[in-house]
Amino acid sequence: MADVSTETYDVIIAGAGPAGVAVAARLAQKGRAKNILVLDRYHFPRDKPCGGALTGHVGPAMDALGLSLRVEHVPCPDAVVRCGSFERRVEMGQNVDVIRRLDFDADLVAQARERGIRVIEGEGLTSYEVQGDCVLVHTSEKRTLRAKVLVGADGAASRVRKQILCNAKATPHRLFVAELNVPAPEGLATSMVYDFTLMKRGLCGYVWLFPAPGGRLNVGLMHYPNPSKNLSGRELTELLREGLAPYGVELPGKCAKGWPVWGYHPNAKISESRVLTVGDAAGIDGLTGEGIAVAMEQAVVAGDEIHLALDNHDFEFSGYRKSIRRATVGRELALDRWLAKLLYGTKRWRDWLALVLLDEKVLDMYARRVDGTEVLADQRLGLYGALCKHSIVRGRRLRRLAEHLAEWRPLGRSGS
Ligand SMILES: Cc1cc2nc3c(=O)[nH]c(=O)nc-3n(C[C@H](O)[C@H](O)[C@H](O)COP(=O)(O)OP(=O)(O)OC[C@H]3O[C@@H](n4cnc5c(N)ncnc54)[C@H](O)[C@@H]3O)c2cc1C
Repeated sequence: MADVSTETYDVIIAGAGPAGVAVAARLAQKGRAKNILVLDRYHFPRDKPCGGALTGHVGPAMDALGLSLRVEHVPCPDAVVRCGSFERRVEMGQNVDVIRRLDFDADLVAQARERGIRVIEGEGLTSYEVQGDCVLVHTSEKRTLRAKVLVGADGAASRVRKQILCNAKATPHRLFVAELNVPAPEGLATSMVYDFTLMKRGLCGYVWLFPAPGGRLNVGLMHYPNPSKNLSGRELTELLREGLAPYGVELPGKCAKGWPVWGYHPNAKISESRVLTVGDAAGIDGLTGEGIAVAMEQAVVAGDEIHLALDNHDFEFSGYRKSIRRATVGRELALDRWLAKLLYGTKRWRDWLALVLLDEKVLDMYARRVDGTEVLADQRLGLYGALCKHSIVRGRRLRRLAEHLAEWRPLGRSGS
């Protein structure tokens, strides 16, 4: 067994992605930088499969944490939403910036170090155990470190999450992504594209095309875990290829990487005595598969709870799940989880898609959610109003959606 090191910290954070750095930054704001250790199993710059779109409330969250966007980015003033022959360009209330995670995450780590936070690269958490008044953190370097609190910010494949949940089984969302060395299609150089056409072919989600820094194009798809539409990795890659073809974008060989992520559940256990999880480790946005803003917003809540716990010597974190759920981020996540179930997890997906796409107000409301200028969970009245209207005009909308979808043909087929 590894020797227990005398190195003792107030807080050890496993993972130096956006969630880990953000928790560290919050604690640094509270004057606790000296007693924090952040561990990451990789060396930065390291890549992370991601669309790179800084959606939602990432700007305010970074401002609250004192973090800045210092890397090259493509500001997108609008998004194009498509489904078959349906197309609508939606103006953003404010630009959504697209970054490359290779640069963004490395710069966040640099910003953490500028605050005096110690970050060790190339050393990961392998397991932990809570023992008396501390957590023993075992690392890949065969060391055992001590802390009063452990934060699992170790991403979608989180070991901390697995240990908290005792390896409980769940079905993940699957995301496939590729960064291509080609420019964005004509007219889309500063537009984010969300394309729902392939729902017709069994995709429970959407295809995206985002213009990335350096004249690159970031493409990918998200597939929701719908048990009746269990698609293999090969089938999903083929769907992505088909989804890109109408844009004149070719997906070479095996360049798309698949990545499982677990959706946020308001009742899931995300902490235990002396241990809490943040970011993808605590669950991703079920509707969009996005989570950079989520990670940073949750980190503010987590950082504040840890600061209080260190002051009060109460390390149970029994209210953490509720604090996350009640915060804006939790309310948005819970709403998106419900919307995702309706849109991707039921047989009536056409009904919900018709509502989202063909009710201009609903699409605008969702755009404000994506650009971060509004909180969709606060728009209940607007959403109920839209639902009532939909119950009256749904027949007409369903026919329109069917027409839009009928005009689309899968590659190499004459009809569907
Ligand atoms: C294909 C794809 C596309 C996406 N597109 C978008 C998008 O456009 N916009 C958006 O907002 N979100 C997007 N997301 C989600 C986004 O990438 C995540 O929500 C975000 O990275 C979460 O940050 P995190 O810090 O929780 O996890 P991560 O960014 O995964 O960081 C976790 C860190 O922990 C480290 N680590 C892992 N295990 C250990 C260990 N045992 N010990 C120590 N360190 C460890 C990893 O090396 C990593 O650095 C996408 C996700 C995928 C998969």
